Amino acid sequence: MAKVLCVLYDDPVTGYPQSYARDSVPIIKTYPGGQTLPTPRSIDFKAGQLLGSVSGELGLRKFLESLGHQLVVTSDKDGPNSRLEKELADTDIIISQPFWPAYLTEERFAKAPKLKLAITAGIGSDHIDLQAAIKHGVTVAEVSYSNSISVSEHVVMMILSLVRNYIPSYQWVIKGGWNIADCVQRSYDLEGMDVGTVAAGRIGLAVLRRLKAFDVKLHYTDRYRLSPEIEKELNLTFHTDVESMVKVCDVVTINCPLHPETEHMFDDRMIAKMKRGAYIINTARGKICDRDAIARALESGQLAGYAGDVWFPQPAPQNHIWRTMPHHGMTPHVSGTSLSAQARYAAGTREILECWFEGRPIREEYLIVDKGHLAGAGAHSYSTGNATSGWEEATKFRTGTR
Ligand code: NDP
Repeated sequence: MAKVLCVLYDDPVTGYPQSYARDSVPIIKTYPGGQTLPTPRSIDFKAGQLLGSVSGELGLRKFLESLGHQLVVTSDKDGPNSRLEKELADTDIIISQPFWPAYLTEERFAKAPKLKLAITAGIGSDHIDLQAAIKHGVTVAEVSYSNSISVSEHVVMMILSLVRNYIPSYQWVIKGGWNIADCVQRSYDLEGMDVGTVAAGRIGLAVLRRLKAFDVKLHYTDRYRLSPEIEKELNLTFHTDVESMVKVCDVVTINCPLHPETEHMFDDRMIAKMKRGAYIINTARGKICDRDAIARALESGQLAGYAGDVWFPQPAPQNHIWRTMPHHGMTPHVSGTSLSAQARYAAGTREILECWFEGRPIREEYLIVDKGHLAGAGAHSYSTGNATSGWEEATKFRTGTR
């Protein structure tokens, strides 16, 4: 029987919800492009419930215990005395989420000799040292597409909120003001601007599709080119490299995975190539941007705004400069964990577990590492290596973990 260690974010400070703002969430039948939604044999939760926090348990307890497995759920993930570290020795399967990542480093793999499967309940497995997973023969899988559309909606929201200066205007209302000039001195229309995405995978393409309605000029760069039909439909300009794209864009949205090739892609050098007063929206991974270079560019005016929901490490320490730098529109890592998305990634996690226990193959599109190699989606989008270095700073953040 397996021991499953599930690392989830804390419940709300007001306690696990007894009721919700809405009674249901829409049922999505297929993802764009035809990929099917998760198909577990059954689920033990109601879509729209809070599943991603400790008490939500991803809706897995009944299923796992009915098969005789042990489920341990904790949010206490950082530092040598954390519950995660204490449970590693006899854990067979780890489930974690990018929003509250259980960093799986070489040292932690070494402390977990029984570990065979690491599931990311969501998308993005950069919190796992993939090189070490390969070395230790651990399969890594994530629930691709489960929250791609959720993130693309967040990107559009953040682009509009920065360009139109929404957050400072909202704050004037709270402060009891009516300061029109203060609000609009940094407010523009998005219409007519050049907007580019670094990567046009599931999220990047969904962002492009959603932005088409705003009558902007759309650009993209990616390792592989989209089909001529899609380029024509969205009137896209393709750039062979990031530098040539950022030079012409007013807004740049980052939608590639974090792996050694993309780490610190947006550093002083890259930002200097951008138009003065450009905006960056990064919902991909914090480490794709150089933390201090972003703050410097906002201070100097080279960037007019920066928004996103991804940080490094996570949770970000209280003194992380992105909390206080000017003209930012940051949120904690939430875009991919709306209640709607949680229902999909919880179902996908269960599908992966059912396959694992029954000896059935995990879908190719969910695989990142398998049988000692990058596999499936991982072979397509990641490069081997490790992007977790520096994660220890997450221990500086303290909360009511359990
Ligand atoms: P996809 O795999 O569909 O798309 C990723 C795209 O990035 C692929 O087209 C890939 O190219 C491209 N890419 C990889 N490396 C580079 C590079 N060096 N330069 C340019 N393009 C590159 O993933 P999704 O769109 O679903 O997700 C993208 C990322 O967004 C995730 O990896 C994750 O980090 C982040 N994410 C964030 C969430 C949040 O809550 N904020 C939630 C979900 C995802 P190709 O495969 O063609 O080689």
